[in-house]
Amino acid sequence: MKILTFDIEDWFHIEFSNSIGIWNSYQPRIQQNLESILELLQKRNQTATFFCLGWIADQYPELIKKIDGLGYEIGSHSFDHKLIYTKTRAEFDEDLKKSLFSIEDAIGKKVKYFRAPAFSINDKTLWFFEILNKYGIDIDASVFPGKRDFGGFPAFSPARPVIIEYKGIRLKEFPVNMHKLLGFSFVFSGGGYFRMLPYFLLKKFSESSDYLMTYLHPRDLDYEQPLLAGLTTTRRFKSYVGLKSCYSKLDKLLIDFKFIDLSMADHEIDWQKTDTINL
Ligand SMILES: [Zn+2]
Repeated sequence: MKILTFDIEDWFHIEFSNSIGIWNSYQPRIQQNLESILELLQKRNQTATFFCLGWIADQYPELIKKIDGLGYEIGSHSFDHKLIYTKTRAEFDEDLKKSLFSIEDAIGKKVKYFRAPAFSINDKTLWFFEILNKYGIDIDASVFPGKRDFGGFPAFSPARPVIIEYKGIRLKEFPVNMHKLLGFSFVFSGGGYFRMLPYFLLKKFSESSDYLMTYLHPRDLDYEQPLLAGLTTTRRFKSYVGLKSCYSKLDKLLIDFKFIDLSMADHEIDWQKTDTINL
């Protein structure tokens, strides 16, 4: 099972601590970058799930309508793109409500999927699942099944779709998958590793993954984007490495593999026979 997903945000959203107030001072690039993704998907006859920032739906409702109009499904990626573990339960509740309002207002449909910014949930933010449930979201793709800077949930390793049970709530979870090589685990289906690794390795790792969950961004395909000021050296490297080759690698991946979206994955899985993780 290979699932194609995109997180719909602009180039300046890589800085999680930036406040919404300054986002309008940056030159937007989301329209052109999203157009190139949509063209590529149409050309390769592939489907995908788009996790959109509520802020993007608020600013560019016509873009979100276009994604929906082309038949792609839309989930939420929060409103303000802040890391979940830096929020209180009440702050996340408010933010999710706001993002759903913006997206649902744009497309006129109920949103059923969610992905946390930077997979930033962990065992200290279990209220996160209660809030998703409160707003009728029963499919989540926010788990990073290992240790990392921004959260992480080692209990979900090895990554596969699972049922989460917490305080009587049941959710379907689609974690991002990790690849193990020489004792080192990493995620190659998005972010810096996707942009940095040569295509033959991405293809090899994808072939050996029974379950593949991608997470790409419009900015990953945009090598002409400006450099965001104020990033640490490590973040700057991770955020800008390999931009030039990313579009052609994604194109090759779309030629070599058939991807499905989350609703297709949901239908393919026999949830009665799927593992449950009790939190
Ligand atoms: Zn994001």
